[in-house]
Amino acid sequence: MSAMLTSMVCSGCGYTAPAGSARPFRCPNANGKADHVLRRTIDLERRHDELRAAFIDGEPDPFIRYRRLMHTWNAAIERGMTDAEYIDLVRRFERNVASVDGRWFSVTPFGRQPALAAASGLDAVLMVKDETANVSGSHKARHFMGLMLWLLAMEHSDPELARIPLAIASCGNAALAAAVVARAAGRPLDVFVPVDASTAVVAKLQELGARVTHCPRKPHEAGDPSYLRFREAVAAGELPFTCQGNENGLVIEGCQTLGYEIASQLIAAEGKLDRIFVQVGGGALASAVIAALEDAVKLGLLPRLPRIHAVQTASAFPLRRAWDHVVARISGDASPSEAALAAVGFPGRACEPAEDYQAMDEIASRIEPGEAEAAMRFAVAHRAQFMWPWETVPESIAHGILDDETYDWAAVVRGMLLSGGYPIVVSEEQLTRANTMAVESTGIAVDHTGSSGFAGLLELQGAGLIESDESIGVLFTGRKR
Ligand SMILES: [Zn+2]
Repeated sequence: MSAMLTSMVCSGCGYTAPAGSARPFRCPNANGKADHVLRRTIDLERRHDELRAAFIDGEPDPFIRYRRLMHTWNAAIERGMTDAEYIDLVRRFERNVASVDGRWFSVTPFGRQPALAAASGLDAVLMVKDETANVSGSHKARHFMGLMLWLLAMEHSDPELARIPLAIASCGNAALAAAVVARAAGRPLDVFVPVDASTAVVAKLQELGARVTHCPRKPHEAGDPSYLRFREAVAAGELPFTCQGNENGLVIEGCQTLGYEIASQLIAAEGKLDRIFVQVGGGALASAVIAALEDAVKLGLLPRLPRIHAVQTASAFPLRRAWDHVVARISGDASPSEAALAAVGFPGRACEPAEDYQAMDEIASRIEPGEAEAAMRFAVAHRAQFMWPWETVPESIAHGILDDETYDWAAVVRGMLLSGGYPIVVSEEQLTRANTMAVESTGIAVDHTGSSGFAGLLELQGAGLIESDESIGVLFTGRKR
């Protein structure tokens, strides 16, 4: 067994990146039918007290406060860097981030929003994690910060990593955050965008020094052209600098700081968390938050995982479809019933599901951990039966969560199954209502994607499923631009 506390292990095939690898980004077996995502695993037993101490540390920079839980810190120390040198590396880079964006990474607020709870008719306690004032105006920068710290810490072991161009396919908050972090490091970044990308976003990306490539759809080509061009750039040697865990497993780790902060903030406030609503596009945010909260539970800092509710729009809900297929397997059906499939728009139909949240709640509450793990083992080995691209081109006011595949679906479905949670699909009307309520009641300038998790809460509240003694968490992930 490795002496290191952390390692990068493929959740699909069990491949473990060698401890000395400076590039534990992608599973080398990532072709074929299984779902391959390299995930950081950590032995929380050895150094248990030291890891717990991070959660009550007063350090405001999350990348310093929680460093001992990060694969990057553990790998850097393994290679001979001292803790003081690592802290110095983070602080120096934070100054570069501040020179580009005017702010650096600091713990973001997670507090009660009684006016918003009252406006939604909730008797429960409602807490909002506000990411709108984070670097680049969204949580996305956390993903890139985590990966950039890896690149900076590994430069000495693999000098080529300092020169390799970075690549991303995005035309929203992810691209903007990637451009800020890449600029702070002085690294070239290729951003692949659709032809109808916002001119304001493209101008901002160019101002940040990113190389923007517009990607028209080619005749007879299936799939998102920006993503296809991105894949070609990666095949030609560029480094995936994206929020998709399957492309680069190390991008998840940086966003785990968000979940660690929530755990710390609950401890400080002597609060509890019964449910958390997380908006899902590619799934990296939800996957990171689930992993972080699971660590906090294993460290004895939280009594249990809150019920995880992933929220998607009625325009595209591949994660909800995957959850249905996994639940059908647990229930002993080879596949979901025809009625269930029709309700979630399968195959090819993109109708809005006629939800019966009462029934979903009962199903979710009955699932045993052993059944969930067994079903997920099958699901990751047979990816195509559970996750495939959405058949129609989705459109929504919450345009940041319209990924046609939930890349990190397996981690998110597993988290929902183990916590008694389930996915929620929201209409355009609910997204609009949620955003108006969020902005008016909290004064936070959150955008529609950023308040879409809250729309999921309104959906369950409308179904009468939220009890008055519950504590609920939602994430406001991005600010209005
Ligand atoms: Zn693998």
